Parts: sequence; structure tokens; C-alpha cells
Amino acid sequence: MTSENNSSSSTKRVVAGAVSASGYDVTRRKKGTAQLARERALSIKQRYVVSGGTEPPFSGRFSNGVRYSTKRRGTFNCAVCDLPAYSSSSKFNSGTGWPSFYETIDPDHVWETTDLSAGMVRKEVKCARCHAHQGHVFNDGPRPTGKRYCVNAASLTFKAAHGEGQVPSHGIAAGFVDMLSRHLRIRTKNKGGKEGAEGEEEPSARPTVA
Ligand SMILES: [Zn+2]
Repeated sequence: MTSENNSSSSTKRVVAGAVSASGYDVTRRKKGTAQLARERALSIKQRYVVSGGTEPPFSGRFSNGVRYSTKRRGTFNCAVCDLPAYSSSSKFNSGTGWPSFYETIDPDHVWETTDLSAGMVRKEVKCARCHAHQGHVFNDGPRPTGKRYCVNAASLTFKAAHGEGQVPSHGIAAGFVDMLSRHLRIRTKNKGGKEGAEGEEEPSARPTVA
């Protein structure tokens, strides 16, 4: 289910040598560089996803052991080149089984292209720097943007915000720390926060896919 080859036009392309509004070098990487990064660092599932595939819903688990449904504050970075793509502050419960955000962390960090694969016209979202596939963006999201960035968990790595504690790199301990963190946050959660941002992901019959 590769969609890269079917992208017919782009709606946004970062200029070579550019620095994003948030201060990151978003110079587009040469294809060989991105491919090398994938081969070096990524799991088989991650390689599949960042090359244009889609993971099954509710299967996502970040490469550093944090589940996609985490409520912790932080950023969700490109799994290939580590460019920050989405913030936990724009994450919401879409019920789709894929991490969902109503905006990117910086418009210069995510490249949106037209995807004509699977018999549909969709907007594909990729990392602006290395062009790793992330998912798709739809116009049925919540306020304030009305957008829904539907992203594969395998294409992202969660980086906890300062004060959210360090996460072990892998294994049972990581899952335990994440679970403990979520339980602790339930007691103090969501005082004037964004509606729907704290809900646990649950299965639904929503038809749209990442
Ligand atoms: Zn990237």
C-alpha cells in the first residue's frame, strides 16, 4: 500500500536551506540519507510505515516504548530524522486507533501532498525534512483548526516534555512507567484543557484511515 509513488502534486514544500519558524533546520535531505537512516535505526514495522504503509489501527506503540494513547506532555518527532512534528497539546481522541492531532507543531515541519492511491483523493502528510510517510490529514477534526492529522504511531517517536520524567528505552519497565504516569495524571487531569484531549482511545466504526 505504497502511496509515495502515487503522489501527483504538492501543496507545500520547504525551501532548501530553510530554517523553520521554530528554529529547526528543515533542509530537505537527500533520498539516500533518509534511506540510510531508516536502515540503521528503524524496526521492520517502522520501515514499512515510513515508506508509505499503514499500520493496523490500535496497534501503535512508539519505538521508545510509549503507547500512542499516552496523556503525557511532550512532542511527537519523526522516527527517521527526529524533527518535531506534533505536540501533545494538539492531540485528541479521534477513536480511529491512530494518533490524531488537530495541528502540526510547525507548518514547516510537515509536508502535505495529494495522494491518489487506494481509489481516493487524500492529503498525505510526510516529514518535511526526510519525507518519511506519517499518515493523512482530513477536514473533520475538532476546533480550533477543524483538521485531523491521522498519523501512524510507528512513524513517530515520543519525547517527553521537561518535568514529565525520563522513559526507559524499551521493555516492560517502559510500559510500567507509562501506565503509572497515566494513572497519576488522571487525578489532576484536564483543568480547562481542550475538549476530548484527555480521553483514552477506544475502538469505533469510523471509516477513515491513516
Ligand atoms: Zn524526518
